[in-house]
Amino acid sequence: MSSDFKVTLLGTGVPIPSPERFGPCTLVEAGDQKFLIDAGRGATIRLYQLGMPLASIDALLLTHYHSDHTSGIPDLWLTGWLQSPVAAPVRPFRVIGPVGAKTLMSHLEQAYALDIKIRLEDEKLPPEGVAVTVEEFAADGVVYEKNGVQVTAFEVDHGDVIKPAYGYRIDYNGRSVVISGDTRYNENVVKYGTGVDLLIHEVAIARPELMSEARIQRIMAHHTTAREAGLIFSRTGPKLAAYTHLVFLASDRTPPASLADLLAQTRQTYTGPLEIGEDLMCFEIADAVSVRRYAETKI
Ligand SMILES: [Zn+2]
Ligand SMILES: [Zn+2]
Repeated sequence: MSSDFKVTLLGTGVPIPSPERFGPCTLVEAGDQKFLIDAGRGATIRLYQLGMPLASIDALLLTHYHSDHTSGIPDLWLTGWLQSPVAAPVRPFRVIGPVGAKTLMSHLEQAYALDIKIRLEDEKLPPEGVAVTVEEFAADGVVYEKNGVQVTAFEVDHGDVIKPAYGYRIDYNGRSVVISGDTRYNENVVKYGTGVDLLIHEVAIARPELMSEARIQRIMAHHTTAREAGLIFSRTGPKLAAYTHLVFLASDRTPPASLADLLAQTRQTYTGPLEIGEDLMCFEIADAVSVRRYAETKI
């Protein structure tokens, strides 16, 4: 039986403009409500592949303000407006995020002011469909609650100057999913992730010979290694652990580590159920958490 609590990884990548792994974006469907966590490059393309109207997203939840997590926002917002008269009820674009969301969205409204003016006059698009509502928060706590869905934001640690940075926990119908956001090994992920059904965590990996480079050290210091993520999974004990936001570091001379390396290093500290996320991989959360790849969906 299919569950009405589903998570789909729309983008499992990083700033690299890869056609295989789009920018960070995760779709959560709980009952009749839909959420995106971050809107990286290509979020709209992945939603289109799922046949999901862009304007059907109830709220966009932002983790932090690195551009790879936000560069898909104007596309989602404005292209969603174009679709709105036919595809979904016309309503404002709702954004929830740590402090900074208001500045980001008000400047996007300024940046696209001429497009908005033109389409209002020329295409007679409904003004309420391009309106934006933004809610900001500055501490751990519940940031959304409606019809049995509760969204809790919790602070994580993405580095000393990369602030604010948050992860999210979504509870629905007695089940739960946690998404770490970008973070180093962090106790708050353990606090909010203990006993969840699905724990989705970021990860970074570099071959040992790269670790002498200052650039690599700096990037690794902003993220969680596979051994550390395995430790998080062991301590939280989710029904299923999954990786997204896969940071594979490389240089001109040194290739990236492999998926096998990632798995092997995770297995040093965690022996439970694990998936290495792919774009459009879908998790159905019921008594167990089941996994479907996009290719399987199409068959
Ligand atoms: Zn980041
Ligand atoms: Zn990131």
